[in-house]
Amino acid sequence: MEPSETGRRMGHEFVGVVEDIGDAVRTLKVGDLVVSPFLWSDGSCVFCQEGLHSECLHGGRYGWDDVDGGQGEAVRVPQADGTLVVLPVDKDNALMPSLLTLSDVMGTGHHAAVTAKVGPGKNVAVVGDGAVGLCGVIASKRRGAEQIILLGNNPHRIALGQELGATDVVRERGDEAIERVRELTGGLGAHSVLECVGLEQAVGTALEIARPGGAVAGSAYPSTTSPRPASHSGRTRALAAGPHRYAPTSSSCCQTCLRDGSSRAASSTAWVRSTRCRTATGR
Ligand SMILES: [Zn+2]
Repeated sequence: MEPSETGRRMGHEFVGVVEDIGDAVRTLKVGDLVVSPFLWSDGSCVFCQEGLHSECLHGGRYGWDDVDGGQGEAVRVPQADGTLVVLPVDKDNALMPSLLTLSDVMGTGHHAAVTAKVGPGKNVAVVGDGAVGLCGVIASKRRGAEQIILLGNNPHRIALGQELGATDVVRERGDEAIERVRELTGGLGAHSVLECVGLEQAVGTALEIARPGGAVAGSAYPSTTSPRPASHSGRTRALAAGPHRYAPTSSSCCQTCLRDGSSRAASSTAWVRSTRCRTATGR
């Protein structure tokens, strides 16, 4: 992260209770328990209508362009109707830690599984055992995958991945990992590959372990050295981008949201009081 003279409002994922709404807000009321995705969006443009809210023509990201971050005591949410989703539970519900994952990592893992066309009877390879990768395992199991191969080497995360539904584990990297996945898939490769790392080697591995006709979904923000779709040719595979248009934030500091008059100017906003720390879903 670049050094800053003034600091920056941090965080982009939260669950909270609506404390106030602007005049134009129609679908929310004070007291609603809501979850927010990591970007805000109008919910009505052509991309939002296609379910690609992260590509909203009128949306943006938290912590930028005078919009609050998600790690303060409260956050001003632009385009509140199109961004916030009301949760049908009480804020003390035992599901709250799981529901918080819908603000980022579970939604991202699910999107990767959908984009990679995971379905009943398919074999799936999940590259990366971080939070998104593990959510990709959950999503793949939910969608009926027959075989779920998890590529990673963190013992604790691997164990959790197996608990969540991974049927096979590949701890190797690079060419050895590619060979191992081919062995596990009868030499054919995986129908669906969820790339959940974003580094060059992981992207290269993901492309190589997809079977002909397979689909690779990139859910992580690619590093500057990752191969781009244009550089990949010659194989019959669908390569689809994931929902992250922007690099995730990584600083450990945060600022308390400043609720001043100027930041309340837009009538389509809602103030949301956070219910718990957002770092629980950190990648
Ligand atoms: Zn939109």
